[in-house]
Amino acid sequence: MFQSEYLKKVYAGVEARNPGEKEFLQAVREVLESLEPVVLANPKLEEQGVLERIVEPERQLFFRVSWVDDKGQVQVNRGYRVQFNSAIGPYKGGIRLHPSVNASVIKFLGFEQIFKNSLTGLPIGGGKGGSDFDPKGKSDLEVMRFCQSFMTELAKHIGADTDVPAGDIGTGAREIGYMFGQYKRLRNEFTGVLTGKGLTYGGSLARKEATGFGLCYFVDEMLACMKKESFKGKTVVVSGSGNVAIYANQKATELGGKVVAMSDSNGYIYDPNGINLDVVKQIKEVERGRIKEYVNRVKGAEYHDGCSGIWTVKCDIALPCATQNEINEESAKILVKNGVIAVGEGANMPSTPEAIAVFQNAGVLFAPAKAANAGGVATSALEMSQNSQRLSWTFQEVDAKLKTIMVNIFHNAYNAAEKYGMKGNLVAGANIAGFEKVADAMLAQGIAY
Ligand code: NDP
Repeated sequence: MFQSEYLKKVYAGVEARNPGEKEFLQAVREVLESLEPVVLANPKLEEQGVLERIVEPERQLFFRVSWVDDKGQVQVNRGYRVQFNSAIGPYKGGIRLHPSVNASVIKFLGFEQIFKNSLTGLPIGGGKGGSDFDPKGKSDLEVMRFCQSFMTELAKHIGADTDVPAGDIGTGAREIGYMFGQYKRLRNEFTGVLTGKGLTYGGSLARKEATGFGLCYFVDEMLACMKKESFKGKTVVVSGSGNVAIYANQKATELGGKVVAMSDSNGYIYDPNGINLDVVKQIKEVERGRIKEYVNRVKGAEYHDGCSGIWTVKCDIALPCATQNEINEESAKILVKNGVIAVGEGANMPSTPEAIAVFQNAGVLFAPAKAANAGGVATSALEMSQNSQRLSWTFQEVDAKLKTIMVNIFHNAYNAAEKYGMKGNLVAGANIAGFEKVADAMLAQGIAY
């Protein structure tokens, strides 16, 4: 697996210290494998223990979140915040609310976030948080009570210059609003401690759209530079129907593509005429309903149970925007057989290592999450800048900055891969480009900090 004895030792240490944490081990292994040529070319990294340090979170917080449901019953969830690396800025990363959340999931996301945030070129470190609380099926008041209890503990550990959480799966504008309100009550201060805020209280225009839009800007640049192609006239499949998926669909359509399938965790819809996004927004953003409802409102559309079936829909461009490991080897082979030319990861780690290998071996352009979905956190950092300046930029200003950032991330990843003899391998390029800046800062700041 690793050629370098140093990397073998580092990875064995991670395995021994984090037994059974499969998502975290998967994410660490992928990054370390990409860093092999960098480690060989820079002996200082081993001398100063940079890799041993980067795989260990600076701080991990696990805490009880108790709250009372609408029936008056006490409920207990577990809260997490992993403050992974602050070498280049305050910890930054979303809060995931989903029953599948555990230490491994939060650590994998926090680890990836270090490199993603570095790739944006903005001064933000890596962190992630969440809870096994499931907002689905809860009343607004239950969600509010949970969020307030969650923030009562989290507020002790975050701050505008320390750690700035944001949304993720299950944490949208409603949850951020409740959390921000509670932080403000506890601290008696109005600061940009969370991003993804509502526009009336410090949020940024274009933040809601940023991850999905940014993904399409990245994929468009990748298609143009590596294949002299674009979204124009292409059939696109977007998995998920949450924040990232909806705005990936919107931008892919604006750029000339036709999105024919979307999904949720129960199943997927197929609409050969191109998905009517207004209907999806009404169902998912307004009614908080299920994607299945689409077929009752749009003629000619089909619904199929089981979300992984979406990868059997023939397409030119696949944009997985739901969750981790949603494309396995088998799904990847079907996509390749059906003629896919590009895959852009909107979700975090949606392709298994085996699926990535299938795409790379088949010559499919592959945009890894760390680079391709960095538009969300980049725009969160722009929200932090606006909060610090007490100014609001226009939608066009933020969108233009987002586009420039995504184009730069593509070229940085592309160039880093080429520099280390892996031309066209954006997985390696993104890991290397993200790592180099953080490693440099860690070397400069000394060891016992
Ligand atoms: P949302 O909660 O808005 O939407 C998530 C979507 O994915 C929903 O359609 C959901 O369906 C589906 N989904 C969730 N879990 C599963 C599962 N186990 N199997 C199949 N489908 C599932 O989240 P986001 O759109 O914000 O996040 C989606 C992905 O993008 C995540 O990986 C997240 O980490 C990543 N991401 C998000 C960013 C952001 O700015 N929001 C930034 C960068 C990355 P259902 O409604 O049935 O649960």
